[in-house]
Amino acid sequence: HAADAAIDIKKGISESYQKFKGIKEGKNADYIPDLAKVNPSLFSIAIATVDGKIESIGDAETTFSIQSISKPLIYGLALKDNGEKLNIKVGLNATGQKFNSIQALESTQNHIQNPMVNAGAIQVTSFVKGKDSNEKWQKALNFVQQLAEGKSGEKKPYFGEAVYKSESSTNLRNKAISDLLNAYGMMGGDPLDALDRYTKACSIMITTKQLAMIGATLANQGTNPITKKNILQTEYVKDVVAEMSVNGLYETSGEWWVNVGVASKSGVGGGILAVIPNKMAIAVFSPPLDGAGNSVKAQEVIKYLSKNWKLHFLDLI
Ligand code: GLU
Repeated sequence: HAADAAIDIKKGISESYQKFKGIKEGKNADYIPDLAKVNPSLFSIAIATVDGKIESIGDAETTFSIQSISKPLIYGLALKDNGEKLNIKVGLNATGQKFNSIQALESTQNHIQNPMVNAGAIQVTSFVKGKDSNEKWQKALNFVQQLAEGKSGEKKPYFGEAVYKSESSTNLRNKAISDLLNAYGMMGGDPLDALDRYTKACSIMITTKQLAMIGATLANQGTNPITKKNILQTEYVKDVVAEMSVNGLYETSGEWWVNVGVASKSGVGGGILAVIPNKMAIAVFSPPLDGAGNSVKAQEVIKYLSKNWKLHFLDLI
């Protein structure tokens, strides 16, 4: 690609880190008590390329909970297990409502939403196959670890018990969503079990570097650039990255796609993962969020790099 020569990754991450580290706007998520306790000044950027290079700056080895960035990943795993017929059951369209909206569940046609909001993600989780709950959960964790795998000996993403307990004891709203989905006959299994495994997946602890590797595997059509193992078939990577484009930034997804034009998924833990197919992934972590639930600093960094490096999907054509 003609623009590649202009991309100096080290320079880009250091420039954007300096430029945005002073931002004071935003607030940690606090509806999950454990997230309110995370140091709001943590800030890191990591970029991993499809040819296996990785660069980072700031607190890129600090773990944080993946939260909603697990949604596109578990969606990929469920596509592997069920094929694209899953899309008919779960839906693909934006709701324009908050990620945990009950109103959306009630007002969309046949209650169908998409895999990037809580209802769709809990539903997707219920369709992951395995002999029992534990096997299904281990399969999900393992899948995330394989997407993230770096050089041998490097640490893996792991289950964050504290965040899980904190969310499990306060997630009455998600429980209501699961019950409603069940009432409407939309679940692939026991609703409480699906909710539990969904909450576990949101509690996966990850570093910014590992998150960038996950993105690089998606950017590299599902083959991990370091291990060279194919983790997700290209046909399903397309669904995953397309859904990130359409619904990745909560109810501001449309603005993001027009202004930044990079397939991304954010989580209330403060992470945003951006995937630029056949090139690279940009992962940014900073806990304070805007009103929609997107990290304020992370959005600024990705917007800046997208503009400078012409990563907007229309610039790439
Ligand atoms: N575990 C969170 C929830 O279900 C994830 C929310 C998010 O990151 O959007 O509320």
